[in-house]
Amino acid sequence: MAGEPQPDCLFCKIVTGEIPATVVRETDTTVAFRDIHPQAPTHVLVIPRVHYPDAASLAAGDPAATADVLREAGQVAAQEKVDGTGYRIVFNTGEGAGQTVFHAHAHVLGGRDLHRLI
Ligand code: 5GP
Repeated sequence: MAGEPQPDCLFCKIVTGEIPATVVRETDTTVAFRDIHPQAPTHVLVIPRVHYPDAASLAAGDPAATADVLREAGQVAAQEKVDGTGYRIVFNTGEGAGQTVFHAHAHVLGGRDLHRLI
């Protein structure tokens, strides 16, 4: 059922604590943790606790959780002190776009020049 935890989902296991992560923020509806292969000095993933495979399906199925993810992305940027210089929020969607984990997540990237990233 949409939104339900998936037994084989890596990020569902981070939500439950079954797989450890460096968590930087948590709310009732979201978890934010450092990416294991950071692409910038700040590289944090913000995920909804509910399982949807990508951002578009999350937005269609749970608009409130989508808003929570975006709000938390901003809170992460402020906490990491990259909000002044600018940061990027990225939702890779589909294998062709580089999505590798099919639990919706926002990448929050900052702390370096991001002009050359699309
Ligand atoms: P995607 O490529 O799906 O947009 O992003 C998935 C991200 O999850 C990648 O940047 C990857 O480095 C990160 N990632 C994959 N496995 C783990 C893990 O076990 N722990 C953490 N913290 N990040 C992970």
